[in-house]
Amino acid sequence: MTIHAIETGKVKITKSWRTGYGDGNKRLMNTLFDSEFTEWLPIYVWVIEHPEGLIVIDTGIPADANKRIWFPPFMPLIQRAAKFQMTPEEEVGPQLRQLGLSPSDVRWVVLTHLHQDHDGGLHHFPNAQFVVSSKEWEMAVGLKGRMNWYLNQRWPDWFKPHLVDFDSRIPLGPFGGHHTLTQAEDIHLVPTPGHSRGHLSVTLSEDDLSIMFAGDASYTAELLRAQSADGIGPDPEGQQETHRKILAYATSRRTERLPGPVGGAQAKQ
Ligand SMILES: [Zn+2]
Repeated sequence: MTIHAIETGKVKITKSWRTGYGDGNKRLMNTLFDSEFTEWLPIYVWVIEHPEGLIVIDTGIPADANKRIWFPPFMPLIQRAAKFQMTPEEEVGPQLRQLGLSPSDVRWVVLTHLHQDHDGGLHHFPNAQFVVSSKEWEMAVGLKGRMNWYLNQRWPDWFKPHLVDFDSRIPLGPFGGHHTLTQAEDIHLVPTPGHSRGHLSVTLSEDDLSIMFAGDASYTAELLRAQSADGIGPDPEGQQETHRKILAYATSRRTERLPGPVGGAQAKQ
């Protein structure tokens, strides 16, 4: 299998967004009003050339992500705390074509969650089957979804993902359940909540190596090791529990962790 990393642009977030501190509303205020920002961070999309078809994990940021959005009412505060840098050519569709791959050949698009730097390229894949966790979908749709900071008004009308639940009868390592994507049973989806309620990660097993596409479960390997939750997720303690499970998974087998759209350095655990 061949794996490609596509950088669809960059993002700069407040330092308290990357490393959260404080409790409850105070934590959120620290994140939104912090005057210090991180360096520019890459926003990754991952592409797997699998024998059963092309698999894309997350879809990156759209070229107009900095456009002012006035609903929900607190959106300008979030936009102040996260600034994007990208061009139309950097969107995932054009970059796939540059690799000699056609977006219309993509079989599955797995979305780790539905934040806008992950669902910004849906429109490039009208033929694919999208895969989202049931919990993430429940949190992201409708007016409730917008109040949960999901920009669902930007989704294409035809966006109707296949929803997965995790089969808790067959745990995958420390993860309480999983969903198997491929017939070869080499790609699984596992629940990794915290950064968002329905966040999932993707594991790929080849020979004796496991690769984990962990989305925003942690922004960097260092934060993962420190079990340090970000400042934006709805469930910091749940995110730390997810960190412990990822670390336990990584120590039980040779694992390479690949970062999500706000990626830090790639790191072997
Ligand atoms: Zn996110």
